[in-house]
Amino acid sequence: MRILVTGAAGFLGSHLCDYLLQQGHEVIGMDNFITGSPDNLAHLAGNPRFLFIRHDVSNFIFVPGKVDAVLHFASPASPNPNSPYGYTNLPIQTMKAGALGTHNTLGVARAHNARYLLASTSEIYGDPLEHPQKESYWGHVDPIGVRSVYDEAKRFAEALTMAYHRYHGLDTRIVRIFNTYGPRMRLDDGRVVPNFIQQALRGEPLTVYGDGSQTRSFCYVDDLIEGIYRLLLSDEHYPVNLGNPQEITILEFAEVINRLTGNKAGIVFKPENRLGDDPQRRQPDITRARQILGWAPKTSLEEGIRLTIPYFRQKMGL
Ligand code: NAD
Ligand code: UDP
Repeated sequence: MRILVTGAAGFLGSHLCDYLLQQGHEVIGMDNFITGSPDNLAHLAGNPRFLFIRHDVSNFIFVPGKVDAVLHFASPASPNPNSPYGYTNLPIQTMKAGALGTHNTLGVARAHNARYLLASTSEIYGDPLEHPQKESYWGHVDPIGVRSVYDEAKRFAEALTMAYHRYHGLDTRIVRIFNTYGPRMRLDDGRVVPNFIQQALRGEPLTVYGDGSQTRSFCYVDDLIEGIYRLLLSDEHYPVNLGNPQEITILEFAEVINRLTGNKAGIVFKPENRLGDDPQRRQPDITRARQILGWAPKTSLEEGIRLTIPYFRQKMGL
């Protein structure tokens, strides 16, 4: 296939490009570098099956030649207001990538009669009242909360994708991605994995927001990418959760990072800086992924963190 990947210079997008190329496909990567980096694609320079187009997906998209599949991953993705790359500091760009970017990428897929895959998120469940989260849960989202620029853009993106499927008969897929980590995460986007690993490698205490009792379920990037590829090849049009169901509190997670890095500086508690809408619990129910895709994550948290630490060491010049 000849596949368009938006957000190609980002963390997930760049791994996706690598995986698709390994599977023998041609890839067109598109990005405007708002939160991503050309470093993530530098190793693909000169690859005859890879073409890069620098472009903002919120504007009309033109792709030269035939396109067989479109994977829309372009969007800021970090909720941390302390980082200039956090989506609350890029609110309009985030809404445009989710709304106009989704419209434009669906348009490309329709023009080429290509299959389409939307990168959605566990954030569409908001601060969930059901636990773990199944795809049938409608969510608990404040439409004007600070996170709404991301959550509501993704909810709109899902609705628009289903509208293209139902009205135009487009061959669409929606993946709801839960917290994923690994090499190529941006060091300064403020997400918990880059923050904790860097603090630990600098021998500093890890900044736990709130009392650390909030939970997340962390998936290693290679597992996620494999699941996305299975979904792309499937005929499933309804949303599928992908993530690792192993749930952990942020406090326990900090302890894991300190143990694996040998950091003796411990933990420091910071006031909850998420303006009150930090989801308290998050864990995917992956029954549908298991049944429909035959997929489950293989990498334990400890293994995945061990695979991630060398990337941060190298980027930090250690
Ligand atoms: P990232 O910030 O590393 O990558 C996003 C990429 O999209 C960046 O390279 C950025 O420059 C690009 N981009 C943003 N707006 C753009 C625009 N208007 N035009 C062109 N390019 C644009 O983040 P990520 O973690 O790789 O996330 C990728 C996708 O996966 C996002 O859609 C995100 O919502 C989704 N997602 C990620 C996670 C996760 O845990 N990593 C969880 C849920 C959903
Ligand atoms: N968090 C933290 N310290 C940090 C960064 C994040 O305690 O330095 C917490 C944050 O409050 C949230 C969790 O870690 O409860 C995950 O945050 P992240 O920004 O990675 O993404 P989210 O899962 O909220 O989308």
